[in-house]
Amino acid sequence: MITYDVIEHGKPLQKVVKETPKPAGTEVLVRVTRSGVCHSDLHIWDGYFDLGGGKRFYVKERGCVPPFTMGHEPFGVVETLGPRARGVKVGQKRIVFPWIGCGKCPICKDALDNYCLNQRFVGVMRPGAYSTHLLVPHPRYLVDASGVDEAFASTLACSGLTAYSAINKLPKLNQRDWVAVLGCGGLGLVAVSILKAVGVRNVIACDVDETKLAAAKQLGAKKTLDTRAPEAARQLQELAGGYLAGAIDFVGMPATHAVAYPVLRKGGRYILCGLFGGEITLPMPPIAQRAVAVMGSYVGNLQELKAVVALAKKGKLKPTPVTTRPADEVNAVLEELKAGKVLGRMVLDLEHAVA
Ligand SMILES: [Zn+2]
Ligand SMILES: [Zn+2]
Repeated sequence: MITYDVIEHGKPLQKVVKETPKPAGTEVLVRVTRSGVCHSDLHIWDGYFDLGGGKRFYVKERGCVPPFTMGHEPFGVVETLGPRARGVKVGQKRIVFPWIGCGKCPICKDALDNYCLNQRFVGVMRPGAYSTHLLVPHPRYLVDASGVDEAFASTLACSGLTAYSAINKLPKLNQRDWVAVLGCGGLGLVAVSILKAVGVRNVIACDVDETKLAAAKQLGAKKTLDTRAPEAARQLQELAGGYLAGAIDFVGMPATHAVAYPVLRKGGRYILCGLFGGEITLPMPPIAQRAVAVMGSYVGNLQELKAVVALAKKGKLKPTPVTTRPADEVNAVLEELKAGKVLGRMVLDLEHAVA
């Protein structure tokens, strides 16, 4: 098999030819055809997350030590089954659910793998999909996405799922309520699309890039806000008519928090997904008095992936911009993503990768 590996943090990935693994027990070997490139791969590539105040979280503390293979948006074809793998056939095309837990603890038994304390996340703690082949521990982590474009389907494993799970955490909305989507990169755009699909009409897309705002509008955002504007928070409050019930932050920096959190309506929720980094200080009494929540949302669970895939299969999700590039261009793709030049999602074609 061919993999594109991080050999040293921050340095170009290298193409490596390795022996293709054989599935044992319940394992399934998937031949990867498409692999989405996620913004969080940039942090894993760099080796750390910025915690603000000069503090960093290093990915090596999660067992992510080079050399390793990134890639947590896998789509592929079932190639070989382990002797105890049931419920899936060779040749079937599947999305691989990447947020795999230990499979044994009470959290995993409740199908909340993404909250497991002994995670085995694909492309983070175990080899990922920047590879022609991927070993999946159990067939239950394979999701059928028949009829959905393969490149778009791959992006549902992280960007689609993360957006869906964050939307699931919004408070109960009434007719006057508005939801702000902060950051219209790959995640923000798919969030706008999902919000529309689940019947949330009052969406304000927020970004610093007019092209991204225009794309959000096309996908169904009713209003847009350029957050570079002076008094962006006051403008957001006006756009929402004082009824900003939820803000989903796909950037996650003090500046984006400052735009939305202070103008939430009572009972509103600020849902943080983005890992740009930094730190915030919050006066405590208003949190109680305004009954607001600051809530984190990190990827999602298997049921949520199935739910978002079902929306795509029914044709309810307006497809977000997806560009497919040869796997050999992985380093250029990462650099473009880092420079903020990417509209929507970049997906690697592993199907045609040759040694
Ligand atoms: Zn991701
Ligand atoms: Zn577990």
